[in-house]
Amino acid sequence: MKIAIAGAGAMGSRFGYQLKKAGQDVTLIDPWTDHVEAIREHGLQVDYDGQLDSVEIPILYPQEVTESYDLVVCFTKALGLDAMLANIKPALGEHTRVLCLLNGLGHEKTVEKYVPAENFLIGNTIWTAGLDGPGKAHLYGSGSLALQNVVPGHEEQAKEVAELLDQAGLNATFDPNVRYSIYRKAALNGCVNGVCALLDCNLGSFGSTDSAPVIIREVVSEFAAVAAQEGIILDQPEVVSYVESIFSPDSIGEHFPSLHQDLVQKGRLTEIDFINGAIARQAVEYGFRAPYCELITLLVHSKEQILGAK
Ligand code: NAD
Repeated sequence: MKIAIAGAGAMGSRFGYQLKKAGQDVTLIDPWTDHVEAIREHGLQVDYDGQLDSVEIPILYPQEVTESYDLVVCFTKALGLDAMLANIKPALGEHTRVLCLLNGLGHEKTVEKYVPAENFLIGNTIWTAGLDGPGKAHLYGSGSLALQNVVPGHEEQAKEVAELLDQAGLNATFDPNVRYSIYRKAALNGCVNGVCALLDCNLGSFGSTDSAPVIIREVVSEFAAVAAQEGIILDQPEVVSYVESIFSPDSIGEHFPSLHQDLVQKGRLTEIDFINGAIARQAVEYGFRAPYCELITLLVHSKEQILGAK
């Protein structure tokens, strides 16, 4: 299967690396010049749990894409998805399956502008990755991913893609209820990502504050109210426990969430509109308000402005 990874930052590099090592025909696509040129010159350099490796792997700028692929895996940041798909139209043939594994909610609306719904797969991953610099991926820990077809009747294609990713060691499964896990993970991100960036603290520090239980309970209930409108009934006590389980130093309490890394550490615009912002917008569409998510979104945008994020 001819595979393209659209967005070859930290996570795209992980998937590209693992697929290449598994013998797949994989091409990276990315707009970041320093990263593309570093990979062309030195291959993709990988620190995999302390083991150094490098692979030769083709990488294209989006505007260089001329051929279609059997599978396109999207790993841009949420803000970059529309531009990526607009710029790689030749990659998207009549039968190209497009798998979107970005964090957050609402990516269907973007993907469906470019891809027929029957070719579109959605998913959710708990793999992690970082970049140590252009061309240098840092892969650590283990993870998994789940995916499903958007249009009923296309389960076999989704299962085929899950199997292919699984064979590359990505612990991939077909999950007929993947929207539940997407909402559950988005709720976790909605509780901690924006707040840790605003407070400039790691997960454990936020979790140890007296206000954390209130914020978590209210944010989870807002995610649950929107999810319910879409027929997804979140188990709120379980989601609250899931959020609270990450605060311990034995878990990932020392870790700064990605939104903190993007905004505070790197001065980049954030995915907040696709996490708390998506809930605030959807709530209004469904005729109610999600005030905690609204406020977190507004404050993160204020902080983006104050820090001159780009
Ligand atoms: P990333 O920031 O590493 O890469 C996204 C894009 O930004 C790529 O095109 C990359 O080349 C570009 N980029 C990265 N650093 C840059 C820089 N300094 N200057 C210019 N461009 C730069 O994003 P990611 O962490 O791979 O995340 C992709 C998606 O996966 C997001 O939706 C994220 O929330 C989700 N996700 C990430 C992780 C993780 O551990 N990183 C885990 C699960 C889901």
